[in-house]
Amino acid sequence: MHEGISDYLEIMHLAGLSDLNMATERTRRRIREPATVSPDRQQVAPPSLVECISEVMVDDSAAIPASETTDGTLQTAMDSSKAGQLRRLAEEVAQCTQCRELASSRKQTVFGVGNPDSPLVFLGEAPGADEDKQGEPFVGRAGQLLTDIITKGMKVRREDVYICNILRCRPPGNRTPLPEEAGHCRPFLDRTLEIIKPKFICCLGAVAAKNLLDSEKSIGALRGKVWDYNEIKVICTYHPAYLLRNPAAKKDTWEDIQLLMREMSLHFR
Ligand code: URA
Repeated sequence: MHEGISDYLEIMHLAGLSDLNMATERTRRRIREPATVSPDRQQVAPPSLVECISEVMVDDSAAIPASETTDGTLQTAMDSSKAGQLRRLAEEVAQCTQCRELASSRKQTVFGVGNPDSPLVFLGEAPGADEDKQGEPFVGRAGQLLTDIITKGMKVRREDVYICNILRCRPPGNRTPLPEEAGHCRPFLDRTLEIIKPKFICCLGAVAAKNLLDSEKSIGALRGKVWDYNEIKVICTYHPAYLLRNPAAKKDTWEDIQLLMREMSLHFR
């Protein structure tokens, strides 16, 4: 399955090339600070991707008065936090029936998952059968490979990035999304990005890359470079499902991921 990339990453690790560090002075200082030790001498977890890379981020949800709903749960009347905005958008997506075929065949919509404050969004194509069942993007075999790339390759927790797709519904038989379907879903993607305001997007595969960048170029031509989408830096690489079928391409994806990490000021010791 994905032993290939594990082996590759293991080789990179053994070669001392896969450990990440933070390049900026600020983050370098932070990383070098001794780990905080709590009174019972347990180590406190290292700073997350968001803590290390993001500028100051303010969760303004605390400023909004909470009220009790009829089912007794506490909810903010107008939750303007990123999580609140994404939740409302996800509810809207769940009601969408613009693509009749997808709306009638889906088990559920698959919105997105991860940290709304993340500087990095991974963008895939569309949910598959596992995602349709579980309601979360990239949870099948390709998802496991993506998780390995994030956690073993980038040394970042999956929950520290945000993951979503061009389409929020599974196309029957996992066929390629139709241009019309991608067009219907596009406002949901753009609104997701407007809420998260990532600094980086990593497009996984041709469908994600070509749709986001509105390009006719092949994924081979789009990968290996840094593109711009509304002042967000975009890196394109092969889709994990393609890598499962073509393990030889994993080395190219690893190069793309290293490019992404350099752009993000994550670098190798
Ligand atoms: N492939 C995708 O492009 N997205 C998913 O969520 C799962 C598989």
